[in-house]
Amino acid sequence: MKATLAQLARGLGDAVFPPICVHCRELIETNGQEAGGFRHLCPRCVTQLEFGHAPQCTTCGHPFYGVVEGERMCPHCEGLDPAFREGRTAVLFKGPVRALVIELKYHRGLHVLTDMAEILRRAPDVLEFVRGAVLVPVPLHPRKERERGYNQAALLATSLAQAADSTGSPQAADGTQVESLLRRTTDTATQTAFDRRTRMANLKNAFALARGAHLNPAQHYILVDDVFTTGSTLNSCARTLRRAGALNLDVVTLGHG
Ligand SMILES: [Zn+2]
Ligand SMILES: [Zn+2]
Repeated sequence: MKATLAQLARGLGDAVFPPICVHCRELIETNGQEAGGFRHLCPRCVTQLEFGHAPQCTTCGHPFYGVVEGERMCPHCEGLDPAFREGRTAVLFKGPVRALVIELKYHRGLHVLTDMAEILRRAPDVLEFVRGAVLVPVPLHPRKERERGYNQAALLATSLAQAADSTGSPQAADGTQVESLLRRTTDTATQTAFDRRTRMANLKNAFALARGAHLNPAQHYILVDDVFTTGSTLNSCARTLRRAGALNLDVVTLGHG
């Protein structure tokens, strides 16, 4: 099932989309070869990808630059009071990554998922971090998911699980799983009439456990989303999982910024 979706997206990409870089819009010259595993970013834009690396903020994964003196939390996370333990991000949410995410979320660009999977494959620290865990995608409101046709966080979680299990040692006997344990109960699109403070208050209660979902306190859970911005959506999800009994809980995003 997982492989079929990836193959479908790839086949569709070949048939319909010319090899144009989604970021700089230049024709991708591959000379019959894939540009290092990327199909929708040109080699020049690939070099602009900024991967997360140590030392980093343990809450969101944003790398620290220069001299770090025992710093654990970055300015993005000040005041967040995380309900999760740690966070990692594959790359910074800039140029080429922003273009891929916009393509996937707003232009029905399922074909770029293969490039996101390639980014994840090049982030060994993130793969190591998630291997053997249960990945929980941040849910969309059912109305929004119907409109978009899919939840990009769920697709990313599946790509992440596949990338984690196809690399590294086979120490995790059960493999990396994806479970949609959460549902979004508040439709944020209908929230624009409220001021920011009210929206933030509503976001706190925007998630609930999916019907029939059951958590195992011994299990390692990792929330997955496309982008870490303020962390408040991920934190709201984390609070819901914590209340439901998740003790061992981290977060991972594709991009940060
Ligand atoms: Zn380019
Ligand atoms: Zn941070």
